Amino acid sequence: MRGTSRPDSRTTAAVRSRRAKSTNLNFEPTAFHSAELLRYYKAMSEVLGPMHWWPAKSPFEVIVGAILTQSTAWGNVELAIHNLRSTKMLTPSAISKIAPSRLASLVRPSGYFRQKARKLKSFVRFLRAEYAGSLQRMFRTPTLELRKKLLAVHGIGPETADSILLYAGNHPVFVVDAYTHRIFGRHQITDGKPDYERVRAFVEGALPPHAPTLNEFHALIVNTGKNWCRKSTPRCAECPLRAMLPLSSPFAKFLAPDFSGKLFSEALA
Ligand code: SF4
Repeated sequence: MRGTSRPDSRTTAAVRSRRAKSTNLNFEPTAFHSAELLRYYKAMSEVLGPMHWWPAKSPFEVIVGAILTQSTAWGNVELAIHNLRSTKMLTPSAISKIAPSRLASLVRPSGYFRQKARKLKSFVRFLRAEYAGSLQRMFRTPTLELRKKLLAVHGIGPETADSILLYAGNHPVFVVDAYTHRIFGRHQITDGKPDYERVRAFVEGALPPHAPTLNEFHALIVNTGKNWCRKSTPRCAECPLRAMLPLSSPFAKFLAPDFSGKLFSEALA
């Protein structure tokens, strides 16, 4: 296997043993897991810098974006949001009054536009029924209670609910996405199965219950996934997380053959 000459002091046998016990996430996060995830955080942050995640002008725009971004690229969402903004439709009351067909035509660039128009309508109906249309009142609800309520709204799944809670409401939850599953799986932190709730609970248990930290960690993972941890040909040799990739991982073959880890261990010191 390439890269086996790499001194692996950072992914020692003890670490691998503790990771092995944690496979499938059948455990409560410990101080060890917290330290590990903070190392990941630091390594990505040092290379990528601050992420300033979620480009939106208001909490309601975040919520609209979280719904529209399902199964589409962000560029398409931006076009739909531009349509809504230019027609003054980016408020809960405007969305509740607009005809469904007109709303669907405005969000058309985001794909699945009829379904997404229905989802937006469902959310504003919920907001009006439960919180008299007030986002401030909604976000004053305790996190777990609000999460449960959001998940009961048509068209809001776990990733959308957590995006709303975190990015629009500043609640300390972690948003799990495909990049999280991919990176955690490749690093043998999990078995790579996309079990949203268990990965979310694990990260939330291991990192501080601090919304900016959880926000930044998600953004760093997404950027690491997009830039390096690609689906078919990961760029491990240049990746900020290369020092944490266990040699027992099948992806260790993507490390450069002469990679010693020296630069990275210095960066982490
Ligand atoms: S080191 Fe490789 S496997 Fe790990 S996150 Fe980076 S690209 Fe993915």
